[in-house]
Formats: sequence, C-alpha cells, structure tokens
Amino acid sequence: MLIVQKYGGSSVGNIERIKNVASRIADYRSKGHKVVVVVSAMAGVTDGLIKMAKELMPIPNERELDMLLATGEQTTIALAAMALNSMNIPAVSLTGAQAGIVTDGVHTKAKIRNITPKKIHSLLDEGNVVIVAGFQGETPDGQITTLGRGGSDLTAIALASALKADLCQIYTDVDGVYTADPRIVPNARKMEEISYDELLELASAGAKVMQSRSVEFAKKFKVVFEVKSSMNNNPGTIVKEETKSMEDVVIRGVALDKNQAKVTVVAVPDKPGIAAQIFKALADATINVDMIVQNVSHGNGIRTTDVSFTVDKADLLKAKKVIDGLKETIGFKDIITDENIAKLSVVGVGMRSHSGVAAKMFDSLAKEGVNINMISTSEIKISVVIDIAAAEKATRTVHNAFIG
Ligand code: ADP
Ligand code: ASP
Ligand code: MG
Repeated sequence: MLIVQKYGGSSVGNIERIKNVASRIADYRSKGHKVVVVVSAMAGVTDGLIKMAKELMPIPNERELDMLLATGEQTTIALAAMALNSMNIPAVSLTGAQAGIVTDGVHTKAKIRNITPKKIHSLLDEGNVVIVAGFQGETPDGQITTLGRGGSDLTAIALASALKADLCQIYTDVDGVYTADPRIVPNARKMEEISYDELLELASAGAKVMQSRSVEFAKKFKVVFEVKSSMNNNPGTIVKEETKSMEDVVIRGVALDKNQAKVTVVAVPDKPGIAAQIFKALADATINVDMIVQNVSHGNGIRTTDVSFTVDKADLLKAKKVIDGLKETIGFKDIITDENIAKLSVVGVGMRSHSGVAAKMFDSLAKEGVNINMISTSEIKISVVIDIAAAEKATRTVHNAFIG
C-alpha cells in the first residue's frame, strides 16, 4: 500500500516526539508499505516566527513572511529524516517545491495549482521514506509560498490525491474529531465518522482539528482520510462522503472560533454600490470576510447606516488599512474594531430536515445571560457572535443542550 501520513506540530514538538513518530513510520514500512510523510513545524515555531516578523513590521511584507514561515517545516523534515536514518531506514526530506507542489502567487494563503510528484515516486521506488514539508509550495516562477495556517493538512490531502494513495492518515494530539473541542468541553464525544460537509462547516467555524481548505479539497477529490492520535493506537475518525445514517443526528458538533475580530464602519451613506466598494476592496486585498451585518439606516437627508463584518484577527490591521483607504471616496464617519468577540456555531446535516435548532440554541444562550451580537446561518450551520469572555462557557452550554 502507499500511505500518506501527516504529523502536526505537537506530534513533532520535540526530539523525543520526533523519535516516536519515526518508530511509527518504521512500523508501517516494515509491513511492506510505501510511506510518504508530511510534517508541520514543531509546536509554537510558526507562531514564534510570526511574532518576530511583527516586531519588525506590524503588517509584514508577505513574500518575506512566507520565506520566513517556510523555515519552520524545513527544520522538521530534516530532523524527521535524520531520526529515521539513525534507525537505519533510508529517508529523504523534500521541501514543498522539491516535492513538486506548485501554487498561485497569493502569499500566506496560496492555493495549490498542481502537483507533479515525479521526485516522490522515484525516491519511493528506491526504497526511501519520503518526508515532505507541509504548508508550503512554490509559484511557477520560483517564489516560496505558504498555504494558510494549518496548511500542512492541505499538503497531506493534496499529496494523497496526487499520489493516488491507498490510505491517508492525519496524526494529531487528540484521538479524532470530537463533538466539540475536548479541551473546552470535557464531555465531548469522539465520532467514528463524519461527512466532508459537516467537518468542512465545523472547520470553517473554527474547529482547528483540520484546516477547512484541506477538507474542501478532500471532498472535491474524494480523498477518504482518518484523523487519529500520534500518542496512542486508538481508532480515529473516518472522514468521507455523507451516508444515510448521518442524517439521523441533528447536531453533529459545536465549534468555537476565538480568532475572529469585528469591524464596524460607522455612518456609511446608505445608497447602492457602497457595500460593493467595501467588500471588493477587502477581496482585492485577499482578506476573507465571514459574517456581515448591515444595520437599519438612520438620519435625515443623506441616510447613513453602520456596516459590521468579521475577519480573521490576523487580517484585522490590513482590513482597517484597506477601509481607511476608502474614506475619501465613500465618506463614512469612523471605523471601530473589536477583538473581544468569538463565533460559536452548531453544525449538522440533520438540520436540513429538523426545525427549531436556532430557537433551542438562542434559548440556551439566553438562559446563561449570553448576549448575541451577530447571527448567520447556512443549510447545515448556525453561528452567533458573542463576547469572548463568555465564549467557553457558552460552548459547554450549547453542547449540553444538543449533545449532552
Ligand atoms: P496539529 O498540530 O496536529 O495540526 P491542531 O492543534 O491544529 O493540531 O489541531 C488539534 C487541536 O484541535 C486539538 O488539540 C483540539 O484542541 C482542537 N480541536 C478543536 N475542535 C476540535 C474537535 N471538534 N475535535 C477534536 N479536536 C478539536
Ligand atoms: N506550521 C503551520 C501552522 O502553524 C502549518 C501547520 O501546522 O499545519 O499554521
Ligand atoms: Mg493543525
């Protein structure tokens, strides 16, 4: 079998753990499998690199940021290869570019355009374990890019697809996908399986167990994969196409995202085309906007309205700068930003055929005295923006109400 395994930051967080990962890889190889391994930077390294960059420049040059961040994974591939070599197992490390991962040029959020895994195949045929740096690629003209936070998941899924792997395993520091983050909700339950759509909604709602773009990719190319722990041999969670029995469950999981910030553009003229200008400018700056709320307009004469939206905290300064740049053309009064918010979501495909989910969610929050700031819904998800201070307790409350 050809197996793609991905080990996240905490699984390779120190030399002891890298040795532990090497033994696991050695085990699979000794059973006659070909193994391609994707690794993340060691736990905390990417955050540390970003922090240093921001000490020099609050909005770092994104080409240079990618150059810097790619070093995190490069450290781990070399160490992992050495760990295997020290066990007399032939292993070769490859950067994203060397592995044939070609991306577009959107630094810090690049999309994979194609993968030419020729080098990987030839190294495998020679009997090597191939260790690929996650989270990075190269543009057609040789610029190093990164794939967005958590992007090693995407590297693994995309490689599994390109290599037509028989098995794709995502090793992390929890036993699988739970009904909520087990660090916040101690009685959360591990799921045996989950559909792409549900995991995609959970991931985009902030459940960082998988990067959402990687789940999107897996769905598109039908890559079945397993999320499991690198610290034990417990069965994990299988992620695959939706099956009939999955619809019986109304709420599959609860997710909390503490990485969002809210931006309010105050007193925007209430006339056609203004919202388009704001969100086009943000899109042109490759800032992803999540929730949007426009308030009722007020004032006599030229009526104005407030437009609020949420973005990743990491994009907040950039978003503020972009909106500031529109002040002359649009003529709003002020920009207010709020980082003390969190987004809480419930997700389940069963929501399509069951009513009353929103009412139950809002009711449980009201009973806890949690105020709802913004609301958005999709076919299988309801999200609310709440105060960050109440967020973890609210997550337990909502989990209790739906899952127990
Ligand atoms: P890795 O470094 O392996 O990529 P991450 O830290 O990115 O690991 O993701 C694993 C973490 O995701 C877990 O430690 C857990 O706290 C968090 N998490 C959030 N939501 C969930 C969920 N529904 N199920 C499992 N883990 C979750
Ligand atoms: N090291 C990168 C990050 O911390 C990518 C990853 O871990 O998947 O976001
Ligand atoms: Mg991760």
